[in-house]
Amino acid sequence: MKELTSFIKLVRNIYSQEEGYLPLHIPTFNGKEKEYVMDTLQTTMVSSVGAYVDRFEESMAKVTNVPKSVAVVNGTSGLQVALNLVGVQPGEEVITQSLTFVATANAIHHNHAQPIFIDVDKDTMGMSPEALRAFLLSKCEKRKEGLFNRYTGKRIAACLPMHTFGFLCRIEEIVSICNEFEIPVVEDAAEALGSSYKGQSAGTFGTIGVFSFNGNKIITSGGGGALVSKDQKLMERAKYITNTAKKPHRWEYYHDEFAYNFRMPNLNAALACAQLEQLDVLLRDKGDLYSEYQRGLETLGFKIKTVPSTTEKWNCWLIALEMDSKEERDVFLKKTNESGIMTRPIWQLMHRLPMYKNCQVENQENAEYLENRIVNIPSSARIR
Ligand SMILES: *Cc1c(COP(=O)(O)O)cnc(C)c1O
Repeated sequence: MKELTSFIKLVRNIYSQEEGYLPLHIPTFNGKEKEYVMDTLQTTMVSSVGAYVDRFEESMAKVTNVPKSVAVVNGTSGLQVALNLVGVQPGEEVITQSLTFVATANAIHHNHAQPIFIDVDKDTMGMSPEALRAFLLSKCEKRKEGLFNRYTGKRIAACLPMHTFGFLCRIEEIVSICNEFEIPVVEDAAEALGSSYKGQSAGTFGTIGVFSFNGNKIITSGGGGALVSKDQKLMERAKYITNTAKKPHRWEYYHDEFAYNFRMPNLNAALACAQLEQLDVLLRDKGDLYSEYQRGLETLGFKIKTVPSTTEKWNCWLIALEMDSKEERDVFLKKTNESGIMTRPIWQLMHRLPMYKNCQVENQENAEYLENRIVNIPSSARIR
């Protein structure tokens, strides 16, 4: 039997907070955040000009070990432009998972393309390579113009897996399958900064990876995102088309293609720089938090989601529990939230949402299993 009262006591204990509201994930500003943000105000460099953007892009490239990174306004727009960069055209299709945050699917829609939803693995909660291979083998055909969906007749332009809660999906296998079928991989690594496999950062296995720095993520710039890639040329192009495709000139305004205004403002980049300096401190504290939860929950009968073998280093972004049934999950959510402990269920599957209900949906056995059972519990770092 699971002891709900003891669970609530454990969470309050871990956060040394006997009463009051305990949020799911709030940021920590323990470094040079104020100094850097004040600097942008004092110099008036709050917007599209300023050194913090370059500095943040360089730091992100260093942290993820790629030649170049490009900062953008948020993760969603980052995914949108990444899909465009790998060649997704209007009317084409992108393979993704139904178990994800809505931004993944929206980024496909914003390219006027359609998502195809395939299943996830139970351990990683990310895209299943078996489901991917089964779909590609049974429903697609290679033509000289590319890979085509035999049912819709449309070209499959990309594959967009997601690293759920910072666990890596089986990304090496996914990239190798996609190479075989000649489709590019964009990684939705929005939740996975600081996670790695065999020393390689999440987001750097496919053609492009995208991170988010929204307020609830592992580090925040208020709102923001970043693209990373091993392909420096592609990142130079990313920088160009997220900055209105303006030809560099001291005074002339000349733009030579339709482009985006997705660059990260210097004000946000200042915050991002200070936050990124704190990444190791945050990762250490969140690692301790995960261990404390593991020890505490063992004796209470709760099943914590443990780090899958695909993830050598986990960023511990959001800690998850697996309930035995939807009914038990619902009681858990109600009781914990009523007592001021914020918990929430994993996302409802994309193909059930009104705007995606007519999309192609493959088998969702594991996604449905997880949808009914997975909850997140307070996971903020505790350094204040
Ligand atoms: C946070 C997140 C994004 C991007 O969100 P933004 O708020 O646009 O930065 C994309 N995908 C997933 C899975 C996310 O969790």
